[in-house]
Amino acid sequence: MTEILDIFKLLLKKRFPFKFVYSNEYWLLDPGHHIFPIRKYRLIYERLLAMGAKKENFLKPEPASEEDILRVHGAKYLRKLKTGTLSSTEAQALELPYSQALIKFALLTVGGTALTASEALKDGLAVHIGGGFHHAFPDHGEGFCVLNDVAVAVEKLRADGKIRKAMIVDCDLHQGNGTAVIFSRKDHVFTFSIHQMDIYPAEKAASTLDVGLWSGDGDEAYLTRMRAHFPRLYREFRPDLVIYLAGADPYGKDQLGGLDLTLDGLKERDRIVIAEARKLRIPVAVVLAGGYAAEIEDIIAIHINTIRVAQRA
Ligand SMILES: [Zn+2]
Repeated sequence: MTEILDIFKLLLKKRFPFKFVYSNEYWLLDPGHHIFPIRKYRLIYERLLAMGAKKENFLKPEPASEEDILRVHGAKYLRKLKTGTLSSTEAQALELPYSQALIKFALLTVGGTALTASEALKDGLAVHIGGGFHHAFPDHGEGFCVLNDVAVAVEKLRADGKIRKAMIVDCDLHQGNGTAVIFSRKDHVFTFSIHQMDIYPAEKAASTLDVGLWSGDGDEAYLTRMRAHFPRLYREFRPDLVIYLAGADPYGKDQLGGLDLTLDGLKERDRIVIAEARKLRIPVAVVLAGGYAAEIEDIIAIHINTIRVAQRA
């Protein structure tokens, strides 16, 4: 009996040989009638269970500590968030209604990405069913982003002595402006952002490498640019960890964007980022980032495809 159980466990491990990080509290935040599809987190979790993932595959994050947040964000900003004393301009920039639940969500998400990054170092790969809030700057948040989970995770692992160098591969439709500013003049992090030029943020910050695309660009334009840089950048920079923002918003039917990627094109993008890193034995932490297609099923399909690519890598 125990033998059968062992074989079963082995099979299970083979199906998902890495961890997911997820909290049921992620979707308790109610942003009201808002384009941000908060319920995608729960739907992806349920879909993974239907695909054979077991409860043991999932790790539950803790909210990030103040010490971890303060490696990236200013004490004044964090205090304002916690005490509800943002100015009206600062609160408006978030483009999400301010609430204590929002701050709780942001802190938990940061903890989630930090846990995912640390698990990726153990298993070679880990997926956060959340995260990717790249428009958060040291002293303010904007565009649905309160705290920069990816930046805090990198700096935490570095402070813990677990990594020396990290690469952030940001394939969300929007430029990773907050992340770019946080790591400008910091040699230990390579920030890569491929994004649509003629949308938010109006002012692009300088990443280590930016690739700008224009409305109407599709699979070919996108993938040609990706192949021009990967795996070359991995070989040149030799990061100890890649954090991949696998945004679903470059999709052709996204309501906020104008790029024209197909589901297959997005899958190939995932393959380039994840599989090429794994071939070089670089650990990859995946975070979901954005996605605003009118049909939530499309958003779920894109994220699940990313996870399937991770499974095969
Ligand atoms: Zn986005």
